[in-house]
Amino acid sequence: MGNRVKIAKSAYCGRFAPSPTGPLHFGSLVAAVGSYLDAKFNDGQWIVRIEDLDRQREIKGAASRILHTLEALGMEWDGQVVYQSQRLTYYQAALDELNQRDLIYPCVCSRKEIADSSIVGINGPIYPGTCGEGPMFVKDAHALRVRTHHKPIVFKDFLRGLCMQNLKQEIGDFILRRADGFFSYQLAVVVDDAQQGITHVVRGADLLDSTPRQIFLQQLLGYDTPYYMHLPVVINSVGEKLSKQTRAPAIELSCALMYLVQAIRFLGQNPPAEIVQGDIASFWQWAKKNWRIQQIPRDSARGINSCA
Ligand code: GLU
Repeated sequence: MGNRVKIAKSAYCGRFAPSPTGPLHFGSLVAAVGSYLDAKFNDGQWIVRIEDLDRQREIKGAASRILHTLEALGMEWDGQVVYQSQRLTYYQAALDELNQRDLIYPCVCSRKEIADSSIVGINGPIYPGTCGEGPMFVKDAHALRVRTHHKPIVFKDFLRGLCMQNLKQEIGDFILRRADGFFSYQLAVVVDDAQQGITHVVRGADLLDSTPRQIFLQQLLGYDTPYYMHLPVVINSVGEKLSKQTRAPAIELSCALMYLVQAIRFLGQNPPAEIVQGDIASFWQWAKKNWRIQQIPRDSARGINSCA
């Protein structure tokens, strides 16, 4: 199928891709600020994509609240905001292409069957490939999995250096479309990053394990692989990642500058006193000019108080 996308090349195009499962909190702010500053320091573009594929997890109004918060924090995105829920035909086209090349297969295994017959890997049970030879029968509701291989996927992360994963062994054939019909994050993110011409992906280290799956799909679909930088994720006092599930509080706009200062300190930057006590405009002016990725801590997670 001729649906390969000609990727527009620009020197630098970064993105922030929040899921609208709740308001922006300090953890997601760090990813937003890191990707924004890296793009702006490099005179690049920064786009915002709302990852609203999973309608069951979506909180009504969260997307517009996130966008409003970014605006109030003085973070300007380039172009139109893109919503994944409006891009389903592109994901389907990518699936069709993979299907024609026999790279995906229907899977009718239940969660329980998989749990009973798998060993648990870094990302849950490693699917043993049961349906890969052809399922016993294909029910209406079936997932679609991609055939992985043993050839290691190797990439260089700006902060973490050389990373390597054997997908077959460490992840297994993974889902591109769920049995309930939703396209998977892995598929959508790869199609979007390519079609939006993203050259640099800067995001939380919780997604480091997903990167090899995404590179693998880029290779299958003939897309370029962007550069990757995985920032430390923010953890609370009991070691949990800040998220909606761990009840991370929303950013309060009455303390906008304080949050921004904390976010760049968390990322190892040292704003001088006059910036900390100044206003948002001079904060960004300073931060865009003085962004130093060499100062970003290499750890994959850090406590929230490490920026105080
Ligand atoms: N939507 C994902 C999240 O909110 C981020 C995806 C990405 O940056 O690749 O965790």
